[in-house]
Amino acid sequence: MNPSEPTEYLFAPIIPTLSIADSSQRFPVRRVYCVGRNYAEHAREMGHDPDREPPFFFTKHPDSLLPDGSEFPYPPGTEDVHHEIEMVVAISMGGSNIPVEQALQHVYGYAVGLDMTRRDLQAEAKKMGRPWAVAKGFDHAAPCSALVPAAKIGHPKDGRIWLEVNGEPRQEGDLASLIWSVPEVIAYLSRLFVLEPGDLIMTGTPAGVGAVHRGDKLIGGVEGVGTLEITVR
Ligand code: MN
Repeated sequence: MNPSEPTEYLFAPIIPTLSIADSSQRFPVRRVYCVGRNYAEHAREMGHDPDREPPFFFTKHPDSLLPDGSEFPYPPGTEDVHHEIEMVVAISMGGSNIPVEQALQHVYGYAVGLDMTRRDLQAEAKKMGRPWAVAKGFDHAAPCSALVPAAKIGHPKDGRIWLEVNGEPRQEGDLASLIWSVPEVIAYLSRLFVLEPGDLIMTGTPAGVGAVHRGDKLIGGVEGVGTLEITVR
């Protein structure tokens, strides 16, 4: 390939992005990592012992991000889609084997996300020892608010994380009860993958996950970060 010639794509490449609060710039997203069972009460509600086992990870497709205020199309192949409200961490400086003490230097900012889950397909995958890809990685499975730079809000270590469905409280927790803190998650993940600018990490959901239905209005938030609102279509 001659670098002086402009690249000709066979079709238009998709560059997934997140908006940034109070900015015209956008954050280009490279990968979306998710942490499983990172709040003790949620681990218990899913039938697990919340003892501090090593964190585990799964991924979502970057193009499954859905902006705040969107309609979330109820996905096919399931009768039991669940909401999981989570704080999202955005990485702007890459690295591997990142020490816990330096991990926050790699963070650009934070957002409020939903790890939407086809729970029935996840239960089947668990039973059969199969991957979670279809349960977690479907189209539009990652609604996410605008990013708020850490330069503005700092690095939230505690604060309420919550979700209401049609005005009824469903999920409630506090960032202080994360089993693996944000710096620990970054350090751990960076031993398994080289992190790069544009990576997102969904940090896990507190207790109270449950089913959504067509027409439901979901509003959730993370204290000090913001809110996220979607309607199930
Ligand atoms: Mn989750």
